[in-house]
Amino acid sequence: MDANTKKTIYICLAVVVILFSSVFLGILPEPYDLVVFISVTLATVLLLVRWTSKAFAFRCPKCGHEFEILATVNFISPHLENKKYLRCPHCKRFVWAIGFPKGRS
Ligand SMILES: [Zn+2]
Repeated sequence: MDANTKKTIYICLAVVVILFSSVFLGILPEPYDLVVFISVTLATVLLLVRWTSKAFAFRCPKCGHEFEILATVNFISPHLENKKYLRCPHCKRFVWAIGFPKGRS
């Protein structure tokens, strides 16, 4: 299974987990319901971000340099489909870097 298929499956699983955790909003008393929901949502998103940081690398469209990013950078940087707004460590320009699975260029 390639990394893009895994990514789609993991995103679907994350959505299911988050939707399932919303059930607690109607079961638990306030504010525990919100605490559980936000905790599950944050944990799920952080796990997804951590995995994508390890599984994907990025290529600068200006100079062609390929680089990896930290999970924290992955979490806060804006993205569109397979592009992410990052600073290229080689040419130092802010670019919409193109993501691709590691081990494949
Ligand atoms: Zn560059």
